Amino acid sequence: MEDCIFCKIIKGEIPSKKIYEDELVYVFEDIAPTAPIHYLAIPKQHISKLDEINEDNSAVIAHIYEVISKLANELNLKDGFRVVSNCGEQAGQSVFHIHFHILAGRPLQWPAG
Ligand code: 5GP
Ligand code: ZN
Repeated sequence: MEDCIFCKIIKGEIPSKKIYEDELVYVFEDIAPTAPIHYLAIPKQHISKLDEINEDNSAVIAHIYEVISKLANELNLKDGFRVVSNCGEQAGQSVFHIHFHILAGRPLQWPAG
């Protein structure tokens, strides 16, 4: 997608702080962190938002959760962490390339606002 900032980050056209990468997934630091650990996990394939997941593209989403689990163990997030995907403007989605926020390092309120 030409104008997608996360596609540009994957291609290296916009700099980012990489945490993890494989052939399907890219994980990097959020530019405006809201917790001591605030990473974004994204598929390299452009999917706009969560309600566009379907039987043709869901394998990469399953893989993202495998990567998140691996990172959580490696980073020793034993005290807890949260994974959030905002879908649509009313839910707060501002970048329309699906992403999973990984939040940790402080107590997290629930329910979220
Ligand atoms: P959303 O609001 O769509 O759920 O989350 C988008 C996230 O992307 C926000 O937390 C925002 O800080 C982050 N973000 C937006 N632009 C950039 C960028 O250019 N680089 C990085 N690393 N994060 C970004
Ligand atoms: Zn994209």
